[in-house]
Formats: sequence, structure tokens, C-alpha cells
Amino acid sequence: MQMIDKSVFKDKKAVYYTLGCKLNFSETATIERQLQEAGIRTAKRGETADICIINSCAVTQEAEKKCRQAIHKLVRQNPGAFVVVTGCYAQLSAEKLSKELGVDVVLGIDKKGNVLDYLGNLAKHEDAGEWFAQPSKDIRNFVHSCSRGDRTRYFLKVQDGCDYFCTYCTIPFARGRSRNPRIEELVEKARMAAGEGGKEIVITGVNIGDFGKSTGESFLSLVKELDKVEGISRYRISSIEPNLLTDEIIEYVASSRAFMPHFHIPLQAGSDEVLKLMHRRYDTSLFAHKISKVREVMPDAFIGVDVIVGARGESDELFEKAYGFIKDLEISQLHVFSYSERPGTQALKIDGAVSPAEKHRRSQLLIGLSEEKRLAFYERHIGREAVVLFEKPRPGMPMGGFTDNYIRVECAPNKDFVNRLVRVRLDGFNEEKSALLAGGIIGYAD
Ligand code: SF4
Repeated sequence: MQMIDKSVFKDKKAVYYTLGCKLNFSETATIERQLQEAGIRTAKRGETADICIINSCAVTQEAEKKCRQAIHKLVRQNPGAFVVVTGCYAQLSAEKLSKELGVDVVLGIDKKGNVLDYLGNLAKHEDAGEWFAQPSKDIRNFVHSCSRGDRTRYFLKVQDGCDYFCTYCTIPFARGRSRNPRIEELVEKARMAAGEGGKEIVITGVNIGDFGKSTGESFLSLVKELDKVEGISRYRISSIEPNLLTDEIIEYVASSRAFMPHFHIPLQAGSDEVLKLMHRRYDTSLFAHKISKVREVMPDAFIGVDVIVGARGESDELFEKAYGFIKDLEISQLHVFSYSERPGTQALKIDGAVSPAEKHRRSQLLIGLSEEKRLAFYERHIGREAVVLFEKPRPGMPMGGFTDNYIRVECAPNKDFVNRLVRVRLDGFNEEKSALLAGGIIGYAD
């Protein structure tokens, strides 16, 4: 790393490519903002960039493959550009990635917040790139991130890392131990988002229910303090572990000012046997209890659930059992992932690998079930009134937004509706059945 002379950034343009989770997208937006503040503008479509930033993911072999493909494509499309790779794959395979053709610098997770410091004078490296990643167990710093996504919402990172070590997961190796900033720092970030006109904040992290471990606070206290921030009309809690989603949190959300009736809860496996093999910290009965608790106090809440199919040890019988369990859950949608072998994980020691064809079959079955559940959830809202926060439409696309309980709603473009809470009547499905149509506009709700 060398001292930076910001004059080299004058008239320079950067492109950004992100893979993986919401947290990664939010962190890319923060990197982009830092570079913009240093005078590096974001390249427009079709422009050749001087700097390429790739924020990688290592959740599956496929994600790693996509990252390498993205590097090759960006190097080809932007000849001579300075190429930086960061993110989980960069943390786990820094040395290997530094040897990819055209890569100049590979930055581990702890350096993600300081990309600017590693751009040097943008001179390409002659041979292999340099890499900077410290062992994950030593990663203690918290890189703040609160940024506007490409739509209307802000993503506020409240926690990073994980101490759970589920047998199939590489995240603790990539992102380090669980850590979080203090509540007051996050409240300040939420106030800043409100000051910039933000109305909705999605609370993100790796294991957000673990919030407070490093500061002696709790996730519920964070939720209560954020709820008081003026100007923010909506919060959504992104994925939260079922064992950490306490009944108190559910009850608070039900009566809160701005926390939406929307939950995203990872189940991962629908049988106790596979949950045990995965070292998950709950069983199916705890999970079922959480779903019924949410339904008891928020009958119309949207509940999205993550499931992994084809983990080692998931026999045909155990999958059948899981399918039956999931079918009976009163949930709104599934996010289905195929199990992917990850080097260094304990899961590799488990017997009973599932063939790719069988993983595909199971995945298709659950995707079908998910669609049935989502359509049924949407359908029962037809004819009702709802408040939608509309997003800026993409050229040639209908205007869209979400209700408080995360139903996608579309209407004809109207620039007055952008980032406004609009009360509408829900009138039926759009052609692809991916959204409900706003039949009648009743008025503004903000
Ligand atoms: S809870 Fe388990 S699956 Fe989730 S990040 Fe932590 S180790 Fe990975």
C-alpha cells in the first residue's frame, strides 16, 4: 500500500460487480460512495472504466466460478483498467485470485472499507497482483455500511461475522467472528439515511440476531431504538436465525411504529436429523413454533424461508419428511439453494452425498411448492387496500414497489409516486403473476 495522491483519480471512471448477499451489495454501495467522494465517477453503460471493483462471494462453487468469469469479462471489456477483488472469495482464496490475469489487488474482508488506500497510482502490476488478507480469526474490525441500494431502500449493516460454525458454511472463515457497533452509532446512521430522504431501511448482517454480543446490548434494544428514528417509515429485518428470533422480538414488531410484518427465517433443513448434521441450533418444532407465533400476532405477515436441498446425509426419506414439514408451514415463499461442497467445512466428513440430478429434482419440487405458497399469499390480498412504497421505474418497465407485508405491486409509471407511500387497492395479478396490480390509487399515506 502506498500514500494516495487523489489527483490521479481525476476524470477516472469505475465499474462495480457484486455477487452474493444483501450485505455484499450494501458494502459495494459504500465502496462506490467512497470512490465517488475521491473524484472517481461511476462509469455509464458502454463506457470503458479505469478501475474495476469486484465484490465476491464464496457461498457455493458456482458463486466462485461466476466471480472468476466476472473478472475475465471486466478485464476484457476494460483493457488496462486497475482491477481490485474483495469479498468472501477474496478472503478465502486471496493468493489464488491474485494470480488471475489482470487482477492488481486482492483485499480480504477487513480491507473492504479501505479500497481507496489500495488503488495506489492506478499503475498496473507487471505480474501477479498483490493480496492483503489476514486470517479470519483475527478479523475484529467492523466496516460500517449504510447505503442506498439501486432502488429506494437503504441497507444498514448492523453486524458482521458469525460464531456458529454450521457444518456446511464457510462464512465464519470468510467474515470472521461475530461483532457489531454500538446502538447509538447505528441510530446515527439511520438518522443520516432519513436526512437524505430515505424512508425504508433493511437491517442486514451475517447473523443479525447475534447483535449485541460484542457490546453487551441486544437486538431487541436495537430494534426499539431504531423504531424511534423520525423520518424512517419502514424497517425490514433481513434473515434472522429462528433460535434468535425471540417471541419478544416478534411481539415488539407486531406493535411497533415502523417495523414491517415481514420475516426472513432460515430453516435450511426440514428434518431434525439433517438439522443435527448441520449443527443448526434449533429443531423443527422450535421452527414451527416461531411461524405460528408470527401468524398469531401478525396474520398477514410475509414469511420467507431459506432451505438447502441435497445436504450430505439428506436421504430420500429425510427429504420426503422435510417436504411434508415445509408444506404444512404457513409461510409465504421459499428461497431454495442446492447444497454445495465447500473446502475446509466439517460437512465434508458426513456420509451420504446426494447426486447433482437428485439435488436438482428436490430443488424443483421446492421451487414449485414455493410458487404455490406465494400465489396463495398474494391472492388472498386481492381486493384489499394496501400502502406501497414505490421505486423509481427502470426505462420501459412498469412502476413497482412493495406493500408493508412485502407484496410486489405494479402500476403505470408516475414520477410523483417515486419514494412515496401510496395507498392503493390491489386488483389482481399482472401477466407473469409476479406482482399484484394497483387497481385504484386512493391517495398518499406519508
Ligand atoms: S448461522 Fe450458520 S449458516 Fe449462518 S452464517 Fe453462521 S455459520 Fe453460516
